Order: sequence, then C-alpha cells, then structure tokens
Amino acid sequence: MGEYVFCALCKRNVDDGKRHPFTKTHQERVKEVLRNQSEQYAKYKHFLLDVATISSRTKQPDFYCTFCKVKVRPTAKEVMEHVRTFACLHIFEHMATAAHHERVDAWFKTNHGDFKLKKSHVISEKSIGKYRERIRKKTEELDQAEQAKAEWKRRERAEEKDKETRGAQVEIRVEVNGGTYVLLWVSDDW
Ligand SMILES: [Zn+2]
Ligand SMILES: [Zn+2]
Repeated sequence: MGEYVFCALCKRNVDDGKRHPFTKTHQERVKEVLRNQSEQYAKYKHFLLDVATISSRTKQPDFYCTFCKVKVRPTAKEVMEHVRTFACLHIFEHMATAAHHERVDAWFKTNHGDFKLKKSHVISEKSIGKYRERIRKKTEELDQAEQAKAEWKRRERAEEKDKETRGAQVEIRVEVNGGTYVLLWVSDDW
C-alpha cells in the first residue's frame, strides 16, 4: 500500500507517493520546471561575471524562484549596501543564500530531480564571494572615473575664468611718438 499524497508539481493527488516521482509524467514536469527556471535565469546570469550598473532600482528585473516560491526583489540591506544599482544583484544574492540552497536540495529530493542539474540553480559561497569582489572593483573604478571627471571639469572652469581675467588685463595700448603700440603682457602673476 502506497501513501496518498498531493504532488505540487503535477498539481494532483497521487495514490502512490513513493513511486510517483519516478513516473514518466512526473519526470516530464520536473524537466519542464527546471527548463523554465533555467531559461529565466539565462537572461540574467551574464551579469554575474560582467557586472553592470543600471540607472534605477525600479529597472531591476523581477525573478521568480520556483524552489522558494517567491518573487525575488532587492532587499533593504542590498539597497543600503550599495550607492549604485547593480543589475540583478538581488537574484545572485538570493541564489547564494543558505535558505535557497536548502529549498533547492529539498525540491530535488522530493521531486527526484537529477542532482547534476542542481548546481545551475544555486550560487556557491565561492562564486558569490568573487561576484562581490567584482562589485567592489567596479565601484572603485566608477568612483575614480567620477572623481577624474569632476577634477577635469573643475580645471576647465578655472582655465576659462583665468582666460577671462587675462583678456581684460594683457592688452595694454601705449602711444609713443604718434604711433600706437600694443603690448601683450602675458604673466601668471596677474
Ligand atoms: Zn508529480
Ligand atoms: Zn530561492
């Protein structure tokens, strides 16, 4: 006698809970769910290696985690930690949490999924560490670029002001014996 259980993937009661996960129909569902999740993630995963900023938090994509059954959104902590918005950071941070790892494990166990496929649905501690390091470097790069730009603008403004001041001062006209001479006085001491 098998157990009578509800299969969340097949969305029906099955009369043999032990054998059901091995059936063809259930295994088809497993593959389909994993394929959908992979396709969704494929759109974003390049940002894990190639970190990029986006102009606003509202542009962060929504990501549905089928294992945790949640719509993943940026947490307050993630927002507070960064001055800039890094594309898909919330997705990667979610996939690296212990809670997500546990739920993925449980999902594969319950549904008898192929454990070889598990690693494409989680982010290891090592990978998230490297990602955070990339974010740190990118932040540094952007900060430096912004500082350089601000400094360049400051100098440009100072030079323009300097030119205006000099323009009024360098030209001195003198008349000697009926002729007009123009003296151009270029000095940094003005
Ligand atoms: Zn099923
Ligand atoms: Zn999750």
